[in-house]
Amino acid sequence: MASFCAGSQSLDDTLAGLHERGRAGEPLKLGIMGGTFDPIHVGHLILAEQVHDALGLDFVLFIPTGNPSFKRDKLVRPADDRLRMVELAIEGNPHFLVSDMEVVREGVTYTLDTLRELHALLPAAELFFIMGSDTLLTLDHWRASEELAKLAIFVGVNRPGDSLASEEDLGHLRALGFKALLLDAPALEVSSSDIRQRLESGRSVRYLVPDSVIRYADERRLYR
Ligand code: NAP
Repeated sequence: MASFCAGSQSLDDTLAGLHERGRAGEPLKLGIMGGTFDPIHVGHLILAEQVHDALGLDFVLFIPTGNPSFKRDKLVRPADDRLRMVELAIEGNPHFLVSDMEVVREGVTYTLDTLRELHALLPAAELFFIMGSDTLLTLDHWRASEELAKLAIFVGVNRPGDSLASEEDLGHLRALGFKALLLDAPALEVSSSDIRQRLESGRSVRYLVPDSVIRYADERRLYR
């Protein structure tokens, strides 16, 4: 069975807490930060924190991918290790949660299945799926996009220096029924692929990745 965890809280307390918030009049506003997180880095954490703040979300739920549909031809570190790195990275932030729901799911991972599952667990919640704005513009090619569009509000984050998405770019998504938002966030020149290269060649990733994650990756020899 899939589980959630938040810092030192037990899984049951966390889930009960989420239901409680959902029932207390206002719907729970839950951000969802899906990612391969190979490895998680400060860019992901800052992105989630900025969206939490800008949209007044109750929590951001990090969901590491299991066996991602769009990376079937690429080498990705084992899902359990990527999950553990996310758990370590979010420790100490009371509004960050992590779920293993994609990691424990059999077969190829699709966001559609994840959003369906979250709806069943938290029917009163408003779900905000957070992503880079480039990824946002590909949504209409994801599995069962018609149903997907009904399951969440999709939040694309523009980072200065990238080719920025505009409100006009969202027009075709909105015409297809997607509720899509654009936000701005600070630019951070950091990517998982750059971090992997640095680790593989023995260079420093200090301050790009939380220390606890660096220690874990080192102990498990994940990138050497
Ligand atoms: P990732 O590389 O681990 O990154 C996670 C998110 O963080 C992405 O939206 C990424 O946006 C953003 N990000 C990365 N570096 C950043 C930085 N320096 N500053 C701010 N933001 C940064 O994740 P991913 O592999 O692209 O996957 C994203 C999610 O989309 C996953 O949940 C995946 O399952 C889902 N997805 C689903 C389907 C499907 O169901 N058919 C298809 C594709 C993706 P950028 O990409 O703009 O860097």
